[in-house]
Order: sequence, then C-alpha cells, then structure tokens
Amino acid sequence: MGSRQVSNGPQWAGRRITVAGLGVSGASAARALAGLGADVTVVDGGTGDALEERARGLEKDGVRVRLGDGASLPPGTSLVVTSPGWKPSSPLFTAAAEAGVDVVGDVEIAWRLRGPGAAPWLAVTGTNGKTTTTRMLAAVLTAAGLRTTAVGNIGTPIVDVVLGGGDGAPAGGPHDVLAVELSSYQLHWAPSPRVHSAAVLNLAPDHLDWHGSMAAYAADKGRVYEGNQVACVYNAQDPATEDLVRAADVAEGCRAVGFTLAAPAPGQLGVVDGILVDRAFVDDPARTAQELAEVRDVDPPAPHNIANALAAAALARAYGVPPAAVRDGLRAFRPDAHRMQHVADAAGVAYVDDSKATNTHAAQASLAAYDGVVWIAGGLAKGATFDALVAGAAPRLRGVVLMGADRGLIREALARHAPDVPVVDLERTDTGAMAEAVRRAAALARRGDTVLMAPACASMDMFTNYNARGDAFARAVRELVG
Ligand code: ADP
Repeated sequence: MGSRQVSNGPQWAGRRITVAGLGVSGASAARALAGLGADVTVVDGGTGDALEERARGLEKDGVRVRLGDGASLPPGTSLVVTSPGWKPSSPLFTAAAEAGVDVVGDVEIAWRLRGPGAAPWLAVTGTNGKTTTTRMLAAVLTAAGLRTTAVGNIGTPIVDVVLGGGDGAPAGGPHDVLAVELSSYQLHWAPSPRVHSAAVLNLAPDHLDWHGSMAAYAADKGRVYEGNQVACVYNAQDPATEDLVRAADVAEGCRAVGFTLAAPAPGQLGVVDGILVDRAFVDDPARTAQELAEVRDVDPPAPHNIANALAAAALARAYGVPPAAVRDGLRAFRPDAHRMQHVADAAGVAYVDDSKATNTHAAQASLAAYDGVVWIAGGLAKGATFDALVAGAAPRLRGVVLMGADRGLIREALARHAPDVPVVDLERTDTGAMAEAVRRAAALARRGDTVLMAPACASMDMFTNYNARGDAFARAVRELVG
C-alpha cells in the first residue's frame, strides 16, 4: 500500500471507524483504513462459517470484526463506512445519525484517500448502461495510450485502486485517469468527489424502494455533476438528465455537453448518416463537426448502445482524447456477459440473454432492438410498474413467458395492453423453472423471431444474482438446441 501517495494519512490514525458489512467493498475499506492506523471494526448481522473465515482473514490485518449484530453502533465510533445494499434506514445508520456521526461510502473514502497528483476521475452514472459505458470509456482511454482502468461498481474496489501504487509506481499512482462507474447508492454516500467530467446516461424509475422516491433517486444521481471541472455530459433525449446539470454547482468554465442519436446541435455529440460525430470538442462547433467512428464500430449497434458509445466518447473527448482513439477504443470494446448476449440460433430462432435488464427501462431498450420477440420476464419488481413497457412493446410481442415473484404485475399489464398476446404463467420456482420457460418460449416462437430473456426485474427471488439467472438461461437453451 503506497503511503507515499496518501498525504492525508494522519487524519485516519487512531480514529475509531465502523465499517458496515463484510462484503468485498467493506473488507477493502476496512483493510485500507486499518493500514493507515485507524481503529477499525467491521459489523455484520450475519453469522456462519464463510463469514467467520473472512473475519479471521481481516483480523490478521488488525481489523476487529463483530458478527451477528449489524445494528448497534460500537462505542466511540467517529465515522461509519457503508456497503452497497445497506438501506439508508438501516438501524446502524439511524444510531449514527443520533450520535452525530458521519456515514459515508467506499467512494467517499477513496476520494478522501487520494494524494496530490492523483489520477482524475471521469465518472459515469445513470439508470442503465453504466458498466457498458464505463468499459467503453476505459477502452477508448487505453487506445489513446493512457494508463487507466474501469473502477467503482466494477471489478476491483475503488479504494484498492486509489491506494494501489506498488513499487516504482509514479507519484499519484499507476494511472493517468480513472473511468469510474458510480451507482446511485454510492453517490448517495459520497458528498465530496469533484470529478474532471461526468455523464448521467438516462434517468428512469429504479431502486425506488431504497431511495424512497423518484426525486430522491434523481437527486442522488445528480450529485455526480457537483463541482465538475471540465464537462457535464447529459442525454439530450432524456430531459431529466439535463435538469440535473442545470441544478448542479460546477467549476467555472465547465461545459454542458449533450449526446443524441439524432444530428447533433453545436455543443453536442450525435449521429449523422451512420457516423458518430462530435460538435462539442471542435474549434468551431457552429460550422464544423469531427467524425469519430461509425455506428458499426459499436458492439452491439443497438440504439441504446450507440448512446452509451456517444457518452463514453464525450467524456474521453473532454479529457482530450483524439478522434482516432475513440474509434479504435470502440472497435476494441466487447460487451460483458448477460447484456444482450447471443446464446444460440435454432430453427431460425435467436436466443438472447439480457439477464442484466433488471428494470423496465433496460428491458424496453432491449425489446426495441428486435422485431418479433418471445419475451421471458419476471422476478422482483422493486416497486416498478409495467404498463408503459408492455404498451410500447405489445406490437412486437409474439408471446410471453412469465416467472418469478412479481410476475402477476406483468401479467396484469399484459391483460390491459396486449390482451391478444399468448402468455405462459409459470408458477414453479425450482431449479428446473428456467428450462421449462425456455421450452415454452421456443414453442411460441416462429422462424425469424428472437427469444429474449430481458426480465425487467431483479433476480434474487429465484437466483443468487443476474449472472446465475443468465447462466441458467444459457444452459437451458443449450439443452434445448443440443
Ligand atoms: P448498468 O451498469 O447501469 O446496470 P449495463 O451496461 O450493465 O448497465 O446494462 C444493463 C442493462 O441495461 C443491459 O441489459 C442493457 O440491455 C440495458 N442498457 C444498456 N445501456 C442502456 C441504455 N443506454 N439505455 C437503456 N438500457 C440500456
């Protein structure tokens, strides 16, 4: 751990810090803070062998761990560090508020740990497309010869990346710039970051059970623009994102830059005749436009993904990346698993795994990318409603197979807006459920159709996570098609 890069080490020494949750980000924050001399206790309401083993590992690094009680505040705590998944209403945070103790997340800790000359952050948030856009951005920055990595909600915990210098690493760490994905939860608990440039990709209802209301969710997303130095990138076709830019307090000279799937106005990036063009970061935006890449350089070239590419390009251009590197980076990019992933073709039917479509906004983008669709949907709705999604998708639905806890909500919306579409309602939730869903979907599909699993719901009622759900789908498809 490169203490050389942490100029503010002394502010942590001897401080009593409580970390909520023994997960990946909690363990990483705990280790980092203990390494700076803080007196750290990790609390977790869970018990059991796996947690105990993890606890022993942390104790070796000088961290105290308390299992079986995630609610009460250890005496003397002067700061609480949250973990993703802990709701703001968790008793531990209520106890902290009553004691006048600050509660912050791992992103806030990472920001406070940055030393002088630390790599600037280019931040990405939004309801959907964050991971994809952040990875595209990292690919573009890499193509420009910059040392970078995608962090935040992705892969290595952000605290580790900020601290991880290693011997021989240049001052400020081994990176020139970071591509940082930030979730609304992380932004909620991170008041301090003031990034180089940030993008809000889109804004649609999601996680409302956690945030309490759409206004609170939007406000947390909007934090990403606070104090931006160079550019606030917004979606010109999603006015709510532009509203967030207007509401933000930014550094002098910081610009608002829109992206659009239409021809760009001056100050925007957009698309003209299949070409991604930049009319923001050029000398004379009123008269000139810079060609960046072609639509077919983007994988997959679905409309929502072109929007992601434009947002990534805008952030890279704000950082000074030349046009050719935008093209090369986008060409090098390949999407992560379970994001509109083509699994197989059989009898003229394509099978696509979009398990990551865990909300209605993502499912809408996904459904819009295909003509005749047999849609596999359902799971945990997280407070969402389905009328708009179903009404919009109705003309392209060949059939629907529903599964999971909140499938009734989708069934009712289908009855209202697509009464003629055949619906299979699967009650079973056992491990064979996905295989039956795929079989039933295949029976509804005609040559040229796509069987699309884009559930518009979270997966945890039936699966460990969306990866497990996507894997189950892929397995079922392979069994079916041999
Ligand atoms: P996030 O990290 O925000 O969850 P991902 O890049 O992992 O985003 O994509 C999540 C899902 O959202 C994918 O399954 C995809 O279908 C959908 N999606 C991706 N980009 C967009 C977008 N710009 N607008 C709407 N939906 C999108």
